[in-house]
Amino acid sequence: ALNTDISSEAYRETRDISSSVAQTITKLQEVDQSRQEFVSNVSHELKTPITSIRVLADSLMGMGEVPVELYREFMEDISNEIDRESKIIDDLLSLVKMDKSEAELNITQVNLNVLVEQILKRLRPIANRRKVELIFESIREVTADVDEMKLSLAITNLVENAIKYNMEEGWVRVTLDADHKFFYLKVQDSGIGIPEDVQDRIFERFYRVDKARSRETGGSGLGLAITRNVVLMHKGAIKLSSKEGEGSTFTLRIPLNYIA
Ligand code: ADP
Repeated sequence: ALNTDISSEAYRETRDISSSVAQTITKLQEVDQSRQEFVSNVSHELKTPITSIRVLADSLMGMGEVPVELYREFMEDISNEIDRESKIIDDLLSLVKMDKSEAELNITQVNLNVLVEQILKRLRPIANRRKVELIFESIREVTADVDEMKLSLAITNLVENAIKYNMEEGWVRVTLDADHKFFYLKVQDSGIGIPEDVQDRIFERFYRVDKARSRETGGSGLGLAITRNVVLMHKGAIKLSSKEGEGSTFTLRIPLNYIA
């Protein structure tokens, strides 16, 4: 009887070990697969502008005598594609930096009202060009412990999107509020909205609802992934509520006092 007990215990142990080994392998395979997917997405995204540049340059070269206006038009397109490529590379570098476990926040006390004003001032020319009104509703003065550069990037991405995916004569309203624990930053727009079934997916790297529109507006497809990373690094949360054709609201909730 004793023998059987021992062997059945040994059996159980072996079974437990092999099942945890199997779990680890599955986990590693998943990590490897998502890494492969990411690399393949990156390659594809980086190739797209290059391919356009190739086509534009080849057609220019194949044309012989080119009127100066046409030449300028092609050059403008090439220049836009170069900007797009640079944006993808910059965004990728930001993401990769944040992914490293040693990525650290440079926390200081920041007046968020001033920060939001600065961001809106920088984006106002883009909004004006698209005839979108930018409104800042500051419910109270808020000072918080944050990484100013990273948070600024996160908010800029949200406001830029709210401008890009808007309608002509639309508006974007940024609201800043706080309680004793958190600050709340809301970016609301009167734009095209996001279909319910993809609302979870838009935070994924390179996911876009409308590829053509994102391309046209020079998006890298990485903006929301960066924003979410920054928010999580601050131990905060990001929430989206949106209705197609009516607009979207992104809300950040971030602790006022950062505790490492
Ligand atoms: P992109 O560079 O394409 O803007 P993002 O990661 O910033 O990449 O956003 C991912 C996608 O989410 C966008 O392509 C767009 O389809 C959708 N999106 C983001 N913000 C908004 C918004 N305010 N209104 C409607 N759609 C949005």
